[in-house]
Amino acid sequence: MKPTTRTDSDHVDHTSDRDCVIAGGGPAGMVLGYLLARAGLRVTVLEKHADFFRDFRGDTIHPSTITLLGELGLRERFLRLPLNRLETMDAVIDGLRMTMVDFRTLPAPDRFLVLAPQWDFLNFLAEEAAVLPNFELRLCTEATGLVVEQGRVRGLRATTTTADDPATDTDPATSTSTDIEIRATLTVAADGRTSALRDAAGLIPDESGVPIDVLWFSLPKPADPPPPTLAYLSPRGMVLTIDRGDRYQSGMVIRKGGAEQLRAEGLPSLRQRIVDAAPVLRPVVDTLTGWDQVKLLSVQLNRLDRWYRPGFMAIGDAAHAMSPMFGVGVNYAIQDAVALSNAIAGHLAAGDAPSGVLAAVQRRRELPVRIMQRIQRAGHRVISRTTTGAHIAPRWVIRLIRLASPVIRPLAARFIGIGLRPEHVTTPQREA
Ligand SMILES: Cc1cc2nc3c(=O)[nH]c(=O)nc-3n(C[C@H](O)[C@H](O)[C@H](O)COP(=O)(O)OP(=O)(O)OC[C@H]3O[C@@H](n4cnc5c(N)ncnc54)[C@H](O)[C@@H]3O)c2cc1C
Repeated sequence: MKPTTRTDSDHVDHTSDRDCVIAGGGPAGMVLGYLLARAGLRVTVLEKHADFFRDFRGDTIHPSTITLLGELGLRERFLRLPLNRLETMDAVIDGLRMTMVDFRTLPAPDRFLVLAPQWDFLNFLAEEAAVLPNFELRLCTEATGLVVEQGRVRGLRATTTTADDPATDTDPATSTSTDIEIRATLTVAADGRTSALRDAAGLIPDESGVPIDVLWFSLPKPADPPPPTLAYLSPRGMVLTIDRGDRYQSGMVIRKGGAEQLRAEGLPSLRQRIVDAAPVLRPVVDTLTGWDQVKLLSVQLNRLDRWYRPGFMAIGDAAHAMSPMFGVGVNYAIQDAVALSNAIAGHLAAGDAPSGVLAAVQRRRELPVRIMQRIQRAGHRVISRTTTGAHIAPRWVIRLIRLASPVIRPLAARFIGIGLRPEHVTTPQREA
């Protein structure tokens, strides 16, 4: 670790008051920040990294989110980015290809899912938010604690890091850290599943046992690629192949805690497992030449019993870590942001963040989250069979599912693409 020069820890730079301060520049934090600033409120979003460029994060933008972008007047600009549109989702189960989801059955115009690297989506939001006069994004700024006075959260503490030599960004041999304090009517933890602010607020999530983890890696597409396929499942394993233009963002589902054993078996064994599960990757799997190309992502599923305290609320993965199952986590995080913004903007304008309103937001969002997490848990049980050499279901069941797929497709499109209780933007747009 490179040395960091700390300023005198007694020195805290007190910044001006904000209506809302948000820890975390992920999908939840950026959408909430945009919506509140668009309503004329003074918002600061803190992101601990220097940019949004982190790989292996949720890449799926679902029809419900595209509809929300339309409500904000951002849809057309967003869709002009270089994105992949998916109208259907195929899976290959025990060698049988089936189309399980058909977004073309959804109401027009948002009849497709977009695969966009998350950094493109977040950069897009950051650029759109930057023109709003009351929006402030502070990169390289890590929320470290809460300011609590008389039982009410009044803001947060953070450490902001600046490079001594700007040409070397924030990863220089030396950098300077400054402790800051930002006071706000509402403090929001949107800092993801390892949320520091949630901990600081004394909120502890209930964990659901998860039997799987995912190894992520990127592979070039073979010269003659098959139709877009989300996953290959068989007793030989499960491999995800998310389309990213000329490459696949690929994931191999492994048993929870099994990564060390795979490492010990060596890279040739991993390559063989990948090919066994998804033979279509045979021509490209040799591009995986080092473990530095493979990232372990520990799958988590949890939920806070209580998402708020006076002056404070957790949203997105900070309130309920979602599994990658069905790729809905980004969209659920965004729906939380919209629900909170709709409910709280008027109160923030009046200088208040009533706990009753925060409780109502939790009640509104908790039901869809609970149901989706229950379904994700059931899904984990099924796909974890691929890590034990078992069939995910008897062959006749798979054939039956294939036969029933014309009925399943529109239902799955609605469930995955729009979800339960989709939010719509009712937060007003105001000039600052
Ligand atoms: C392996 C895997 C694959 C997934 N694939 C998909 C998928 O394809 N589609 C999908 O929809 N979902 C997917 N998910 C789930 C999805 O990534 C999350 O549900 C979603 O990103 C949650 O958004 P968020 O804004 O709540 O949190 P995050 O996306 O985690 O964002 C939190 C942000 O806060 C920042 N931060 C953290 N701590 C601090 C701090 N103290 N101060 C300041 N900033 C901080 C982080 O750097 C980060 O930018 C996947 C999850 C996993 C584990």
